[in-house]
Amino acid sequence: MHPTAKKPNGVGLNILIVASEVEPFAKVGGLADVVSALCSALKSFGHDVRIVMPRYGGIDLKQHDARIALEPMGVWMGDVEEWCSVYRAAGAGDIPVSLIEHRRYFDREGLYHDAAMHDYDDNPRRFGFLSRAALQLCKDTGFKPAVVHAHDWQTALVPAYLKLWHWNDRLLGNTASVLTIHNVAYQGVYPKSHLPYLGLGWHNFTSDKFESYDRISFLKGGIYYADCITTVSPTHAREITTPSGGFGLAPYLSARGSCFKGIINGIDYSVWNPQTDPLIPVRFSADSLDGKRACKRHLQAKFDLQQHDHVALIGVIGRFVVQKGFELIARSLERIMQNMVVQFVILGSGERHFESYFRDLPRRYGGRIGSFIGFDNQRAHLIEAGCDFFLMPSLFEPCGLTQMYSQHYGTLPIVRATGGLDDTVEQYNESTGKGTGFKFWDPTEEALYYTVGWAVSTWYDRPHHIRAMIRKAMKRDFSWQHQAREYEAVYRQAIARKKEWDEGHRPYYW
Ligand code: ADP
Repeated sequence: MHPTAKKPNGVGLNILIVASEVEPFAKVGGLADVVSALCSALKSFGHDVRIVMPRYGGIDLKQHDARIALEPMGVWMGDVEEWCSVYRAAGAGDIPVSLIEHRRYFDREGLYHDAAMHDYDDNPRRFGFLSRAALQLCKDTGFKPAVVHAHDWQTALVPAYLKLWHWNDRLLGNTASVLTIHNVAYQGVYPKSHLPYLGLGWHNFTSDKFESYDRISFLKGGIYYADCITTVSPTHAREITTPSGGFGLAPYLSARGSCFKGIINGIDYSVWNPQTDPLIPVRFSADSLDGKRACKRHLQAKFDLQQHDHVALIGVIGRFVVQKGFELIARSLERIMQNMVVQFVILGSGERHFESYFRDLPRRYGGRIGSFIGFDNQRAHLIEAGCDFFLMPSLFEPCGLTQMYSQHYGTLPIVRATGGLDDTVEQYNESTGKGTGFKFWDPTEEALYYTVGWAVSTWYDRPHHIRAMIRKAMKRDFSWQHQAREYEAVYRQAIARKKEWDEGHRPYYW
């Protein structure tokens, strides 16, 4: 056995994580947070965890003390050999992170699209390459993973490559695969002309595997080939096996039976913790909320809002896309501002029409609405800490992290009860005062308006309930230690399932 394949203890597994976003290297959304936090938790259980991701142009090698590890590395795609370099850096919890440098593919401003939000045309090649390169790296360094864990369509070819290209390998022949779907709406669907480059073979271009309306769907193929599949909350797992929720993949997910399940994400308390957070001006805890009131004043000052302690302040953070319910907010905001004594702070970036709408609000509602268009981690922490409520009316939400962060910072979520939002927010009960937030079901501006009204009237009329809810929300346990145990169980299930697959059908090699 190669020395790097040795387990750190008797029970640890070698685990390779392949992802397109990892904190603190590159982040667009929650995927980056999830990958780094999950890896840290797995490492703390004694597993040998390693991460592979692209070296995007925006990653500062010096800042991460990244050193060259392999140069050059040849990677066979279907019809051509590509060359790259590999840098090695230390991620959260000192986990080794390999950064695949292929300048033509990854040395760009955006991760997936240009500044005008147009997806790069060569995305299938970029991420197909990443997936092949991750496995090649194992071979070149002698790392023998028991499981490779791929995330979203960008790395959904990893399970297929393992079964099609490496089934006979000494190193990777027994490696099982797990694919986690963080957002089923993004499937990686591209023209079939990319198939030869991706090296998938035309026998894979069938409707049960990669074919989708005469195009290649990365996610669909991943669902076929992965030994186990997860998504990021139990409710979302149920939703996406229904025709309306599955974005066309429901039958293929259902066909995987017990190999598909939902595991809720956790919070990385080393990053999101009001007692230790270096990004907020004053720290606080459930037993001492003075700091939260101070954060509210700082937040109001930063966003040019009137300095009133008693006025309910509602925060919004997110990617400006239809999925997050921004249209519902835009359609009900005027009525809310007319009829309720509230303030808003809004942080986000994304679709241009949303950006210009939210950018303009402070001018229209001076002192009552503040907004910042762009990606700003410090502002995100301050909003979580300083607001009274956090609004997240997603049309669908696989898990969502911000509503969990907000609860931990004593900021009560107002959410549409879908996916992980439904799983992680406990509905307020007016007669007992129990609960941690306010939920509505109909995806309509009426429902949003009345639920914001319900939260705001509770703020003014039943402050003792609000205080009890804040304490309860802050004390909830969203730690990764628990969730990562569930992934551990899935890895072991995948290893068993891989053995069954091998016994059942050896794929043919072409
Ligand atoms: P998604 O992954 O769908 O974008 P999540 O709620 O799971 O949504 O995760 C969003 C993550 O991205 C959170 O950590 C949130 O704080 C962060 N985030 C989103 N938009 C911004 C922004 N404009 N500035 C700073 N952080 C942001």
